Amino acid sequence: MDLMRPFTMGTSYFGNRMVQHVKKDLETLKKEGYTDILHTVSENDLKFYRGTMKEIIEASKKEGFTVTVSPWSIGLVFGGEAFSEFHILHPEACQVTQHGKQLPQACFNHPEFRKFMKDWVDAVKKMGADAILWDEPHWAGNGGWYSIKDDEWTCRCKTCQGIFEEKSGRQMPGEWSTDVEEFRKDSMIDFLKEMTDYAKGKDFTNIICFFPNRRKFEVPSEWEEAACLEGVDVFATDPYWVGANYEVEKFISFYVEQAIRIAEANNLKVQLYIQNFRIEEGKEHQVETAVRVGWEKGIRHFYTWGFNSCGHMSFLASDRPEKAFENYHGTLRKLKSKKG
Ligand SMILES: [Zn+2]
Repeated sequence: MDLMRPFTMGTSYFGNRMVQHVKKDLETLKKEGYTDILHTVSENDLKFYRGTMKEIIEASKKEGFTVTVSPWSIGLVFGGEAFSEFHILHPEACQVTQHGKQLPQACFNHPEFRKFMKDWVDAVKKMGADAILWDEPHWAGNGGWYSIKDDEWTCRCKTCQGIFEEKSGRQMPGEWSTDVEEFRKDSMIDFLKEMTDYAKGKDFTNIICFFPNRRKFEVPSEWEEAACLEGVDVFATDPYWVGANYEVEKFISFYVEQAIRIAEANNLKVQLYIQNFRIEEGKEHQVETAVRVGWEKGIRHFYTWGFNSCGHMSFLASDRPEKAFENYHGTLRKLKSKKG
């Protein structure tokens, strides 16, 4: 997002790589008052659509949008519905459970994965993007598509064992402990520091977003530590309520308040992602509620996930996508015109 704008209204956009159709959608979004768009850039895009993504991003900027990109499902350790071949190309750089089982998820500590991500940053720079959403980075087992057993944890790969030993002077334990927990958190922060510093060196705006716990209200310490990183500009939260243990208003309120607190303490902008996928028929009003709660708490930088309530993608589609999507921008426009 453009850090100078007092108000932003954005949407993610994915699943269409036909530039002529993208252009039509961009015109529609412009008319609806959108200021920002997020284009996902997956491993598939890196491999087959580099030039097309550049065209799509250029077309977006030509319409006046600020363009964010996200590393969609890259290495299977970021948010997104996409396949990954990183584990085929670099099996040595993937996470390993305490029992030595190799997983398809990339290891945040492995230099090969960090290099891969820097190459991705270089690629999205060439495509012309303005901002990067470091979206929902997570270790295996914390969400994602390839779950592990409840009693399994990562990462005890050779690289992680080596770093643990170097830092603590003893072998990495084979059992879960607070030391292991701390090590994983430190590793995540170290990874994000290296990535956001690198992206900052290329003039990107860095946005950090961790997926909120939907079972219990919890703010892991890595949220605050990530917000302290020098390269980070925006702290975002995406409290997607469908399937959460709490009703919409309460759920949004809690995570928005936490995000605002963390952002303010670190002089960062704060951004809220509103759910626009898997909204059931008759529950579209929840989108409006989420927007209102965010607005009343003081949020002025909004995004929604995603375009037309993901009606084009059966896995994510809302039952009545047009209505759910309209409830996002329609509500925001009303709030903005009332209160300025
Ligand atoms: Zn590892």
